[in-house]
Amino acid sequence: MLCRSAAILQGADLANAFMGGRTDFAQGTLEDKKKGALNIANAVKKYAETSPIPVALHLDHGKNLDSCIAAIAGGYTSVMIDGSSLPFEENVELTREVVKYAHERGVTVEGELGVLAGVEDHVFAANSTYTNPMDAVKFFRQTGVDALAISYGTKHGANKGKDTVIRKEIAIATKECMLHEGIEGTLVSHGSSTVPQYIVSEINALGGDIHDAYGIKKEQLKEVSKLGIRKINVDTDIRLAVTRNLRELFKNEPELREKTTISGIYQLLLANPSAFDPRVFLPPIMDTVMYGNVPDEDIGCIVDCIERGVREVVGTLIVEFDSVGKAPLIEAVSLDEMAERYRKKGI
Ligand SMILES: [Zn+2]
Repeated sequence: MLCRSAAILQGADLANAFMGGRTDFAQGTLEDKKKGALNIANAVKKYAETSPIPVALHLDHGKNLDSCIAAIAGGYTSVMIDGSSLPFEENVELTREVVKYAHERGVTVEGELGVLAGVEDHVFAANSTYTNPMDAVKFFRQTGVDALAISYGTKHGANKGKDTVIRKEIAIATKECMLHEGIEGTLVSHGSSTVPQYIVSEINALGGDIHDAYGIKKEQLKEVSKLGIRKINVDTDIRLAVTRNLRELFKNEPELREKTTISGIYQLLLANPSAFDPRVFLPPIMDTVMYGNVPDEDIGCIVDCIERGVREVVGTLIVEFDSVGKAPLIEAVSLDEMAERYRKKGI
């Protein structure tokens, strides 16, 4: 809020399951996801309604129509349907179906074309297949999506390779083709964490064991942000910063290691030195995770670790990506009004 930048908060499909109370979130049912989506949306609404900046809540990597319906039912204002592992025609068909459902409710939709390498919740591919710019144009036309994630060299997870180079030509060509065809739409860069090396070193100095963790260079992301990429997805950096803060807390305040409500978190940190997904460490405080209850001061210290981690990473990138002060330029539109606009446009 201090930066006056608009905000897009993302919850992935499996994050909804976790927030629905499934610590084994990979096994989450549709009911779990609905419950979690509602918890997330309620938390976001609580702050967004009184916030002077526009806030969107977006589902990342929805895997099917049901996942998108669960998110929308909970209160998400935007969804991604990831049909990138399907053949082109089937991807179009699935995405089109989600667009129809979502737009009727004023919810925006992101699709994906081309395959990113790496792992992100249930999304996994060993190799990438770059997006064909001409297919991207066809995809926008045939599906009516608002945004499209392209594959152009970025990678999910913390192990992106030491000297990853983004194929920016793909973004440029796609945007150029869209301009020629009169297509409005947002291009999205997934797998774009920068994996700050200082945070990785700090985690390892605090008992962590993380290796070969390299991200995308900020300079490359700054460059593509001027070349048609309008949304840059960052997740790993936040996970790393929160993990570092948790490790630091228990090092600096050893008496907390024995406190009843949070000693379980310390034990999980000890048992999982190579983990940096906060969902590994937070199961002992699921009531706080799901509903925001902070019953004692010790749990308050954990919440503070999370908040500071988010602020450090997101604040840095808002500045780096030149988003400071842009909030007033973004029109905040209600779902009803968006539904009306989609109806008028016939999409
Ligand atoms: Zn992604």
